[in-house]
Amino acid sequence: MVNRDRLVNEFMELVRIDSETKHEREISLILRRKFGELGLDVSEDDSMAKSGHAANNLFAVLEPSGAPDAPVIFFTSHMDTVAPGRGIKPRLDEDGYIRSDGTTILGSDDKAGIAAMLEAIRVLKERKVKHGRVQFVITAGEEAGLAGARALDASKLEAEFGYALDSNGEIGAIAVAAPTQAKITIEFFGKSAHAGVNPEDGISAIQVAAKAVARMPLGRIDEETTANIGKIEGGGATNIVCDYARLEAEARSIAREKLDRQIAAMRDAVSSAAQEYNARGEFKSEIVYPAYSHDDGDPVVELAKAAIASIGCKPRTFRSGGGSDANIFNGLGVPTVNLAIGYEHIHTTNEQIRAADLAKTAELVVALIEQAASRRR
Ligand code: ZN
Ligand code: CA
Repeated sequence: MVNRDRLVNEFMELVRIDSETKHEREISLILRRKFGELGLDVSEDDSMAKSGHAANNLFAVLEPSGAPDAPVIFFTSHMDTVAPGRGIKPRLDEDGYIRSDGTTILGSDDKAGIAAMLEAIRVLKERKVKHGRVQFVITAGEEAGLAGARALDASKLEAEFGYALDSNGEIGAIAVAAPTQAKITIEFFGKSAHAGVNPEDGISAIQVAAKAVARMPLGRIDEETTANIGKIEGGGATNIVCDYARLEAEARSIAREKLDRQIAAMRDAVSSAAQEYNARGEFKSEIVYPAYSHDDGDPVVELAKAAIASIGCKPRTFRSGGGSDANIFNGLGVPTVNLAIGYEHIHTTNEQIRAADLAKTAELVVALIEQAASRRR
């Protein structure tokens, strides 16, 4: 059985270790030691040079015990947190929630996932559960655009499929699909002139940008597609016709054709507005991560449903609007779904998680490993 006190204590120990994204060195050393002390074979890739983060991705392998023919599965969580994540003081409140003191995040995103893995490994050993080979992948830099996973050495992945422990929602929720994200940068080049003396000689980049944005489909496009302008900058003094404006935007869709159509519509809006004002518009888009989508019958989903039901929770599949490391693992060819672990209000100083959900997550990890052990490759 899951030892709740041990789990809560270890979770608190983990969140007390500062690990804001780009500052993952200390936590990575501690995790190396922890997985190693549990008898796992721990290694790392050399992603730091590419990701620019302070730690490589960690890989810990649990050797099979009693079920060598089980499919190899993997679990992933990330070791970094968002800010403000320094000096976190976790406490267990009377209502059963773990919270910070309100001046920082809590860091359950995603140390709840890591603590659940460590507890699950202890439970497997204590209860002498039969299991196959299991890989635990702890990434750095997730909070900085999935930087660690994007630089991950795919040759170190041995699992057939697996689970990211990094979604909000009630335990039992399975993110079976998530969108592709494109990052878009738009620049408008106009012409400066004195705004009072000879404005007719100028071309206002701000006016062109406004026209272009007004013509773009934005917000929720359809149930699988969204788009947003997140930043606009340009100009200086009011007496100068502004000659340069820059916009940062994104578009997402679970369906690639829809994403392409959305990007084309934004590009068209830029070029038609630029043409109309005799300005120049530059449009760049880059895919940050690929989409994924799994059907109910896929082994990765089916095994999750069985495990969730076995711990007395209700399996529920949903399509996510956000990206996670799961997108990257899917893109590397390893089917991965993202599981809800019960954390709430992440990326805010109100972040919280129930101690009971922490325990449920550890149970779920054990159940997934048990389910995998009951099947053959
Ligand atoms: Zn996360
Ligand atoms: Ca996060």
